[in-house]
Amino acid sequence: MSRNVKFVYTNSLLNYHFHENHPFNQQRVLLAKELLEESDALASNDMVMPRSATEEEIALFHDVRYIDAVKNSSKASLDNLVKFGLGTEDTPVFPNMHEASMQVVGATLTAVESVLLDGFDGAVNFGGGLHHGYKNKASGFCVYNDAAIAINYIRKVFGLKVLYIDTDAHHGDGVQWAFYEDPNVCTFSIHETGRYLFPGTGNVTERGIKAGHGFSFNLPIDAFTQDDSFIDVYSIALQEIADYFQPDIIVTQNGADAHFYDPLSHLCGSMEIYEAIPKVALEIANRYCNGKWIALGGGGYDIWRVVPRAWAQLWHVMKYGDTAKGPLPLNWVQKWQVEAPVTIPATWKDDKGIIPEIPRKAEITEKNYHTLLNLLKYTKVKRD
Ligand SMILES: [Zn+2]
Repeated sequence: MSRNVKFVYTNSLLNYHFHENHPFNQQRVLLAKELLEESDALASNDMVMPRSATEEEIALFHDVRYIDAVKNSSKASLDNLVKFGLGTEDTPVFPNMHEASMQVVGATLTAVESVLLDGFDGAVNFGGGLHHGYKNKASGFCVYNDAAIAINYIRKVFGLKVLYIDTDAHHGDGVQWAFYEDPNVCTFSIHETGRYLFPGTGNVTERGIKAGHGFSFNLPIDAFTQDDSFIDVYSIALQEIADYFQPDIIVTQNGADAHFYDPLSHLCGSMEIYEAIPKVALEIANRYCNGKWIALGGGGYDIWRVVPRAWAQLWHVMKYGDTAKGPLPLNWVQKWQVEAPVTIPATWKDDKGIIPEIPRKAEITEKNYHTLLNLLKYTKVKRD
């Protein structure tokens, strides 16, 4: 039995492209889509073509001056760009940046509309999840923050309480600050501690301000964290937070950069965590939200060995309630192996033994558990 869910996709999502040597590479969205098609898990009637966003919709979160800066980015001076976080090494200008970024946002809004207007249970836009974008500034590969825009759209048009769940290896700072004063949007981010990793924020003590106090949750975990500890603290924290907040809908950001192979973080997960993450999300969506779940992409820089499998597994869980098992379709592996500089895995799971012994494992597990206990203190305060 499968659920009624939608996969938002168009090739123009791949136009969000900085340059050939930039780590953020949207080819991974195509890889995930084709992996699902070759697995007979994604049919043409599961797919929906996204609309573009309007400038008015971008302005649901971003400053008009920033939108103008993005629009004019190809002709602006470096001074003018840098004050908006553009033209940097992380977020360089590329041709038609405004249009490509609008398409990413439009795809996330299409996912929202599939669920809230068309009555589907869930929808994914793996082209989205650009969680570092600020109101008036680009940051960390993110131009327009499609997650923040979509949540504002959900609030404005549908008035629902939104639980935002961010499992990217980096702190979901842009979305957290966007709703820091808002008691109707609860943000939860699990990430590698900001001590040594961009963006440096996401401490457990960042809890929201004013009316939003108590609705921002952070679970910073230690570098070299492995599957067991990640899955343990994530599942417990999320269940407690959902019970505390009682959301109407969940929006998940599914950056796939906590894997051992990922070059931009120091976490040591395997595919196990990408099987567990969507299962817990589905459980929460079913228990509190009548199944309503919007899933986005995010980071993920091993585009051959990690991201396609991680995102395809999320779709499997959203649609069929369980993960795929066994070998990957040979056609898919063979097609992409020609381009890949690394050996593409042959199975959905990782081979045992790809992750070396981490000598500090017990200490890391203990530390993460301690951080979890700190977070859980804040979920016990029930308010009227
Ligand atoms: Zn990330």
